[in-house]
Amino acid sequence: MQPDLTNQHSCCSNGACEISISQITASAGLCPASGSKGRRVDGATVKAMLAVSLTEVRDAPYFFCKDADCPVVYFSDDGTQTFTKDQIRERVYQKEPDSDDVFVCYCFRHTPGSIRAELIATGESTVVEGINAGIQAGQCACDIRNPQGSCCLGNVNAVVKAVQQTMKVEA
Ligand SMILES: [Zn+2]
Repeated sequence: MQPDLTNQHSCCSNGACEISISQITASAGLCPASGSKGRRVDGATVKAMLAVSLTEVRDAPYFFCKDADCPVVYFSDDGTQTFTKDQIRERVYQKEPDSDDVFVCYCFRHTPGSIRAELIATGESTVVEGINAGIQAGQCACDIRNPQGSCCLGNVNAVVKAVQQTMKVEA
């Protein structure tokens, strides 16, 4: 089944992120480099993210490889074409999950470091409610700003929890 990419843009505005992500995962291909299961991305996301000439882009379905140990960011459905980290305009959160200065939210420019700084300074995190407010205000553009091509909230929530966990351990 092809994922319904026509509603991808509205994924962030209607709260249906979980549904659209699971639909995308269900139709995933396998990365030719790592063998990891890819997540289907819209061609518009690939075009927005590439740092190479778009003459390279094929009229083919593309997938996103989120494996941190794999240099491939996007691959074509038949596995014959890959775009690696150095061919992407953005640093990719999934490829360097331990970096403090990589964006985890590309629309409102939050990083693991900025999320940690707020938690240390105030003891709480307003990042998720801030992003939700931005989504409500129609300011979110995950489909073309986030390399994964979909809403960042799952990743942001995971970062908040992970930072809180390390603060507990250190306390
Ligand atoms: Zn891969």
